[in-house]
Amino acid sequence: MHELGIVFHIIKTIEDVAQEQRLTKVSKVVLEVGEVSTVIPELLESCWEWSCRRTPLMEGCRLEHLTIPAVTYCEDCKRTYETVKYAKICPYCHSERTFLQEGNEVRIREIEAE
Ligand SMILES: [Zn+2]
Repeated sequence: MHELGIVFHIIKTIEDVAQEQRLTKVSKVVLEVGEVSTVIPELLESCWEWSCRRTPLMEGCRLEHLTIPAVTYCEDCKRTYETVKYAKICPYCHSERTFLQEGNEVRIREIEAE
């Protein structure tokens, strides 16, 4: 399961931060989820609850996620556009020399700790 791997990775990152900053309890985590990241929020939440129950630092930790819009960059006209609306073809110059600039990753935006 894709989501479980992401959750493990996030919790590992938080554990490293907690160790560095001597945190004993994390109460809330806010994630940025890219629009085209293929993460299913419901699955992410159930993986989150499952993992938090097994990690003392994370017990009862709340999860919030914000959707980050996907942006594609066009190499020909050097402009950016909404990926979801136009996909791979640039709406300005109709070039196909485009690549996804952001929107396929899951990042930690905020950690609230005690
Ligand atoms: Zn273009």
